Amino acid sequence: MKGLPFISPTTHSEEKGGKGVGESIPQINYREILGSSLIHRRTLYKTVTERVLAHGAVAWCLEPTVRIARKLSTIQRPFLLAITGTYRTTSTAALQVRLGIPPLHLQLQREARGTALFRLRLPLSTNISDIDPSEIEEKATGWSTHPSEHLSPTQISLDDGGNINTGLRIYTDGLKTERGVGAAFCVLTDVNITHRWSTRLSLRNTVFQAEILALLKAVEHAVSLPTQQLTILVDNQASINSAANPKSHNSIARKIFKLLHSLPQIRVSWIKAHAGYIGNEEADRLAKEAAETENFPEASHELSKSFTKTFLRQKMLATWQMAWDDGDTGRLIHNIIPKVSLHPINWTRNEVLFFTGHGPFPSFLHRFNLAETSFCSCGEIGTPIPYATVCLLTTSYHMAPPSQQHQPIWFRRVANNSTSRRKIHNLLHFLQRETSLFRPDPN
Ligand SMILES: [Zn+2]
Repeated sequence: MKGLPFISPTTHSEEKGGKGVGESIPQINYREILGSSLIHRRTLYKTVTERVLAHGAVAWCLEPTVRIARKLSTIQRPFLLAITGTYRTTSTAALQVRLGIPPLHLQLQREARGTALFRLRLPLSTNISDIDPSEIEEKATGWSTHPSEHLSPTQISLDDGGNINTGLRIYTDGLKTERGVGAAFCVLTDVNITHRWSTRLSLRNTVFQAEILALLKAVEHAVSLPTQQLTILVDNQASINSAANPKSHNSIARKIFKLLHSLPQIRVSWIKAHAGYIGNEEADRLAKEAAETENFPEASHELSKSFTKTFLRQKMLATWQMAWDDGDTGRLIHNIIPKVSLHPINWTRNEVLFFTGHGPFPSFLHRFNLAETSFCSCGEIGTPIPYATVCLLTTSYHMAPPSQQHQPIWFRRVANNSTSRRKIHNLLHFLQRETSLFRPDPN
């Protein structure tokens, strides 16, 4: 055998004892170096290899040139092959989509952009985003007060405060609709609403930011009231937990903590949302009104880091998607997996061999001079579909054949059906075990 376009498949336990063509070829075995299961190898790549490569990316990968992109692809490819253990001819683009690992230059560019915005506080070029780095909230560190200082346990309650319906209460709410983000609170004395506050935030702000802002404004309002017992009722546990945590990274949560710490007569309780509690319903209405009213006075508010991260990720995915759609390799896989994602597709190696066509098929092997002919010994052309549908030697793995023009649909259907995929997996196992059976007798 010559040609050598393979990674040895023999370490894969189910291929043990196989007579696959790759077996006789000595290779550096990345799979042994990288660990035993695909998910482990993928994790190792993401957490070690990619980290090493990402070093200093902001200095050289903010705007990668075609040359750098190509170079990085060359570096990434052996790892992708080693993680999947597929044939060496499989296209890089298909491997990336199958593993949910973006092209390396896009991944590094995304990280470089993050570093520029978050750490260097440098703006990105305006055709990428108009996010102003000074608008991104900074992570608060250390303790907001002396470590010995905590809120008294009675000051914070995560039980439903719906039964608190007398005395002075403040209800807060924050929400996001398709049209905007709103934050609000209202004050109730017994059954009368005595004060209302609401504001609109930018669509770039998160629900959590609205919730925590509403809580801050409620606490500030409480401080301005003549000292008396009062309860603030919040239908969002995350903002309560954040406000009660002296080590919170959120600067607004820290402000709330300090205020609450100095005013133990102010209690904060969770309340079940949409349960018909009048104060909660009113806060919800006010927040919604603010969110949905276009010219409502808007509070300028920092952008959360998570918003910016999501933005950068989506930007990267969009660029990757465009490359995948316009590419000229891996088209069989594009037919089955048209949409890129950051999650691996749960195919077995055998399934990948079948769907890429880069497997133990005479037509494929013939292209690389590894088989005398592209025909199977049964007389059919030796490509994946005939083996799964008509070849006389594989009848126990057959399924209904597609008509000529329906081949793409047939592949998609098979890939999305677990029973069909099981058959494919077993068919490939059989093809690899009985290689000689499918080679026409040269005499
Ligand atoms: Zn055949």
